[in-house]
Amino acid sequence: MLSSIKPRTVFSKTSSHLIKFLSTYTREPAQALKITLPNGLQYEQPVGIFINNKYYKTEKTIPVENPSTEEVVANVYAAESSDVDYAVESAKTAFEESWRQTPPLIKGQKLVKLADLMQENKELIASIESFNNGKTMALARGDVQLAINYFRSTAGHADKLDGRTINNEEGYMNYTIKEPIGVCGQILPWNFPLLMLAWKLAPAYITGNTVIIKPASATPLSALFVASLLEKAGIPEGVVSILPGSGRVCGESILTHPQISKISFTGSTNVGKHVLERSAQSSNLKKVTLELGGKSPHIVFDDCNFEKTFKNLVNGIFMNAGQICSSGSRIYIQDTIYDKFIPLFKQYIETNIKVGSPFDPENFQGAITNREQFNTIMKYIDLGKESKQSKLLTGGERVGDKGYFIKPTVFYDVPQDETILKEEIFGPVVTISKFSTMEQVVKMCNDSIYGLGAGIQTENISKALKIAKLIKSGTVWVNTYNDFNENVPFGGFKLSGIGKEMGIESLDSYIQTKAVRIKLD
Ligand code: NAP
Ligand code: MG
Repeated sequence: MLSSIKPRTVFSKTSSHLIKFLSTYTREPAQALKITLPNGLQYEQPVGIFINNKYYKTEKTIPVENPSTEEVVANVYAAESSDVDYAVESAKTAFEESWRQTPPLIKGQKLVKLADLMQENKELIASIESFNNGKTMALARGDVQLAINYFRSTAGHADKLDGRTINNEEGYMNYTIKEPIGVCGQILPWNFPLLMLAWKLAPAYITGNTVIIKPASATPLSALFVASLLEKAGIPEGVVSILPGSGRVCGESILTHPQISKISFTGSTNVGKHVLERSAQSSNLKKVTLELGGKSPHIVFDDCNFEKTFKNLVNGIFMNAGQICSSGSRIYIQDTIYDKFIPLFKQYIETNIKVGSPFDPENFQGAITNREQFNTIMKYIDLGKESKQSKLLTGGERVGDKGYFIKPTVFYDVPQDETILKEEIFGPVVTISKFSTMEQVVKMCNDSIYGLGAGIQTENISKALKIAKLIKSGTVWVNTYNDFNENVPFGGFKLSGIGKEMGIESLDSYIQTKAVRIKLD
């Protein structure tokens, strides 16, 4: 049995509430829960909040569902404000006393070790993800592999983060130093629970920061499991804390904590705006990066390859049951093929896109991750059905009466000003509209408050390159869609966000540049 956490030297003389709190922090260790997954794999699921490489009980729990059955499969302890304080204290201590000085190569080696441990446990981690999020095993395996690849790739950047010298002036010498920011708060969504953890953890970690991660309340299981690998990878106490807990309590405590210097958030645009407001109000003006919503256009030109295009459109909108911020949720088809393309696309969807248990390899689409989102999507479907102009091509209803399954749903002839075309639905629902010229479609694409992704289907590469330049979005996919690589930066324009994740660009948000200017007498 672990004894309660002992108070340690308090680094922050300014934070008197912290000093008081530390002397009364007495959480007990939390035991793991034995779970048998639908594919027969058995494992021990940690359910405690994770601080200093240990799991702790708290006073409240969050029920965690399997969205394919609507059953509660675990109760996970929820962090409160005092737990955030303790996690920040341990993160700050790790940052000041060891982590910021740890040689980059050593940090990189540990991250590679974590990636190796995840690789060994890949099938189990993917199964946990499918079980808790509702995504198909094929997709979950892809997510876990991308997370592993990103860890490995980021580890390779470890010893290449240098400043520069600026010596173009007589009588002075200047140089810059790249420094970590400190303790970072990272708030995760539920659509890619593990992958978003990787996208946030890797760049913060490798640049020498320490992190407090809050998973979404609906999907804390994979993050808590991966936490159990951190110590085995040699990652010291305090570098990574994982705190499930409600947005209202745990999330707010992270946003307002005076010792957290940076927030990275992925989720809804409304909460993203709130994160910015909180940063402005907080005592230390936290640096903020945001990965928010989208309503991404997907253009189909008359010279496209139909078969490839069907596949790309489907990956664009039905992958992860449409719960992807970059989903290609507005399809624009050129008028010259419009009437021919639509019935063929309907046939393709109805023949190929099976919906059901994420553990059945026949299914392309699993469950919606939670009831709230399921209800939101069904409301948008009703709106589409009530429209006088938009027409339902396929889908438009749930599948079965248990589990949050929704048929792939397509509306066509959708005018540019309809709600289902303007607002993010975040589900397997797509609009189709008609265009005639390149200029017209670019205008239609850019007519959105969002700017995250875009797709172009054409065999004419010159046309694709011209349009790629004109589209106002963070990513443009040509003859592919929702196709990610660890070296390629991702992040939105306009209301879709601030900053980049993945690629070398992701490191920028976790370092600050110090300039040293020396007068030579
Ligand atoms: P959300 O409320 O923005 O949740 C995202 C994360 O923020 C969760 O960890 C959530 O915690 C936390 N959070 C909520 N309120 C907070 C607060 N006041 N302070 C700090 N953290 C807070 O998203 P949602 O309500 O689950 O989903 C609603 C919509 O968001 C979706 O329909 C979709 O349009 C969009 N969305 C976008 C993405 C994306 O990838 N960009 C991902 C998910 C959802 P709890 O889980 O405890 O509430
Ligand atoms: Mg919410």
